[in-house]
Amino acid sequence: MVGEDQDFERTIAFGERALGYLKYNVTPAIPRYYELWYTYAAGHNMALINAVRELLAAKSRLTPEETERLYDIFLSPLRKTEQVEEVGAQISAELKDIVDLVRELSSNSGKYGESLEDAVAELDTVTSANQLKPIVTSLIGSTKEMVEHNRNLESRLEESREQITELNRSLEVIRTESMTDQLTSIANRKRFDQVINHEMNEAVENKTPLCLLLADIDHFKNFNDTYGHQTGDQVLRLVAHTLKTNVKGRDLAARYGGEEFAIVLPQTSLENALKLAEQIRRAVYTKELVKKTTGESLGRITISIGVAVYRPDEAVDAFIHRADTCLYAAKDAGRNTVKCETDADVEIKDFGPNAA
Ligand code: GH3
Ligand code: MG
Ligand code: MG
Repeated sequence: MVGEDQDFERTIAFGERALGYLKYNVTPAIPRYYELWYTYAAGHNMALINAVRELLAAKSRLTPEETERLYDIFLSPLRKTEQVEEVGAQISAELKDIVDLVRELSSNSGKYGESLEDAVAELDTVTSANQLKPIVTSLIGSTKEMVEHNRNLESRLEESREQITELNRSLEVIRTESMTDQLTSIANRKRFDQVINHEMNEAVENKTPLCLLLADIDHFKNFNDTYGHQTGDQVLRLVAHTLKTNVKGRDLAARYGGEEFAIVLPQTSLENALKLAEQIRRAVYTKELVKKTTGESLGRITISIGVAVYRPDEAVDAFIHRADTCLYAAKDAGRNTVKCETDADVEIKDFGPNAA
């Protein structure tokens, strides 16, 4: 058929273009990157196309990290949505089965009720023991039938119940995965966005202080260039782990972007947030990096941290912007340091639609 032939040719053409992009960008030829470039070549996902164009405006090729990030942002959430929809459909199919079973159950107990009523009516007319026998036999028969039937229904209900529990578990796994950064296994940007918005509301409602830390690895590009991306990835995992083990309770440590991390600290004063930031800075700094395979020392890495305390009713972007300004000030001050907006060398400019 002409339509199918055309579809086939179009698919092959997108595939070839995707391979071309992979080669040109020197992207590792793994299926998810192929999928990314294929989607780009197909030309429907405008958000992805714009993001690629924006990155390519400044330079000619994408780095593997940029490719990974694009995949995380534009394709992996789609995959999750599909998975959620699939599991959701299975749950509704199970629920429909249960509703059918319950319906069957009530129609059968209705029939059983009728045969009991008939028996009662017949009992009224009984005058001898002989007449009783057939009534009792028929009652025993319909009771057995009812018991048998209910047993079947019960086991089918139990099966459905187990299926639903299993499906709910799958949903929970998908939900957690969609909120987790694949490289570092801590919360991802999506989870961060959710939590910070929630905690901002809580802070206003309960009149409690809320702090935000933004941390960025110092000279990480140099580190990658010297030791390679895979070792760089190990460092990202190590920093993520250090952040996570230094926070507790409702605090959230998340990977905000490439080598940037965010920590949300509900019910925490600026003073305590600064103490924690200092503790984290030091914890990262005091770890000497040793390459496992060779025992080679890779020296130390450091992080810079900006700390901001939430101003009630401020927009989330403005809050993050203030923490980011403090982070920049920490970089300017020589890195491996913590800054907040009450420090003399930090200047916060207005942020938002009316800012100059
Ligand atoms: P600064 O001290 O000013 O922050 O310098 P920097 O080199 O850390 O900052 P810059 O923003 O120039 O570079 C960030 C680097 O982080 C670029 C990229 O190679 C690296 N990076 C971002 N994401 C990843 C990742 O997922 N894995 C690895 N290995 N490196 C990453
Ligand atoms: Mg950075
Ligand atoms: Mg950096």
